[in-house]
Amino acid sequence: KIKKSISIAIDGNSSCGKSTMAKQLAAALSYRYIDSGAMYRAVTLAVLESGISLESTEQLDNLLRNIDINIEYPDGHFRIYLEGNDVTERIKKMDVSSRVSELAAISSVRKKLVELQQKMGESKSVVMDGRDIGTVVFPDAELKLFVTADLETRTERRYQELKAKANDVDRDEVSRNLVYRDHIDSTRQDSPLLRAKDAVLIDNSLMTREEQLHLAKKLALEVIESVEKEKP
Ligand code: C5P
Repeated sequence: KIKKSISIAIDGNSSCGKSTMAKQLAAALSYRYIDSGAMYRAVTLAVLESGISLESTEQLDNLLRNIDINIEYPDGHFRIYLEGNDVTERIKKMDVSSRVSELAAISSVRKKLVELQQKMGESKSVVMDGRDIGTVVFPDAELKLFVTADLETRTERRYQELKAKANDVDRDEVSRNLVYRDHIDSTRQDSPLLRAKDAVLIDNSLMTREEQLHLAKKLALEVIESVEKEKP
């Protein structure tokens, strides 16, 4: 018997471990994982490379109209392509991190990406993480999680992640970037970072990855089971 599939929305602030959880949860359920932050980062990279000015609505609109962003799973893992080039690693670097929230606060950028995200989620069986997934992209998601962790923990995680990839990083800069993005992301007019009323709150400061996955999987299986029962 085919199990009913659901949509899972995972939101939370920067570097709280939500993408690790989302990725692992998707793998455990054989669902597709979509990193919506990577899409905002890819647009940011395109803007940086094109050298256009954000003051010019016309130049930005033109870039958005012609941009080619693609998501594929060549070896089963999420990869994002900009104009045909794999930019999955490139977009995690500081130059993109320091500009992305500014770009993500612009409504024309959000409109374009939310449309793409909703299309990708049409067939369900998807775990998407971001800032507005449970509130704007999939307001009807059967399961919504809101993840958080204290700043110390989040800084350390992102710092180790960047260091492991041989990036030249400074811990204080990493911390400042997280605080800065959280501030912009939670105070912007369009789709601010908010916990949806029906989202389950998970503070993972003191949880291991395994514990976090275990909890998320348990919640997902409960929801899938209850949706099964409602089925005619
Ligand atoms: O998830 P990640 O930290 O890679 O996201 C990078 C940035 O993209 C966030 O700080 C936020 O400004 C923006 N973003 C967003 N809405 C989403 C996902 C990311 O505004 N759904």
